Amino acid sequence: SIELDSVSKRFGSVEVISELSLTIHSGEFIAFLGPSGCGKSTLLRMIAGLESVDGGEIRIGGERVDRLPPGARGVAMVFQHYALYPHMTVFDNLAFGLRNIGTAEDEIARRIEEAARILEISHLLKRKPGQLSGGQRQRVAIGRALVKDPKAYLFDEPLSNLDAALRVRTRVELARLHQQTRATTIFVTHDQVEAMTLASRIVVMNARKVEQVGTPMEIYGRPATEFVARFVGSPA
Ligand code: ATP
Ligand code: MG
Repeated sequence: SIELDSVSKRFGSVEVISELSLTIHSGEFIAFLGPSGCGKSTLLRMIAGLESVDGGEIRIGGERVDRLPPGARGVAMVFQHYALYPHMTVFDNLAFGLRNIGTAEDEIARRIEEAARILEISHLLKRKPGQLSGGQRQRVAIGRALVKDPKAYLFDEPLSNLDAALRVRTRVELARLHQQTRATTIFVTHDQVEAMTLASRIVVMNARKVEQVGTPMEIYGRPATEFVARFVGSPA
């Protein structure tokens, strides 16, 4: 599980996350849903270790991680603006993180083969990112996380650069990926349809804090606050 215990974050004098507590269960697919600027990315980046924590604790599998470097946390993040290395082949993009931590080349090849099969990019491994479509690039970005075999995947609006049809296809792929890996998955989005269709639980955020945590049915059927009702567009 991933536990956030009264976590706070400020940028200068502005508090952007305020004593937020939340438990994410092992293996669940959970969505962070909320309007632009409410702190979703900041929260995710704190879990990944890309942003420091100003108050509270983060624990992964019972171990306190908020002082550990990103590479030691066992989580892998996929960004909205997935920067692939343009001069490297897809294979080398996928291998990059593993080579950095000294993984043997035959093990790297084995993991890439497996990830490429799952993501259906096996035929693209020799290409450079510039020779790929947006959706293919996105799958390579997901592949970079997949080859690390992380305990948890952290997705920050991974579909927002894709056109409508591709968004739907990639959404299905993410659901399939979760079924295959059974890894804890946090999916950040401001798209309620995405959250409702992918996640077994949704965390609705509003300015610095959590408004409601629940299943899509609970969030939609029994919104806890007026904000939630308005944000998910339910009749209450
Ligand atoms: P979006 O849906 O637009 O991606 P978000 O919910 O991910 O929004 P964050 O990126 O977490 O929002 O930002 C939360 C708040 O923190 C915003 O007011 C933002 O301007 C501010 N913020 C984020 N990063 C920094 C930074 N490095 N320095 C100062 N303020 C920041
Ligand atoms: Mg964001």
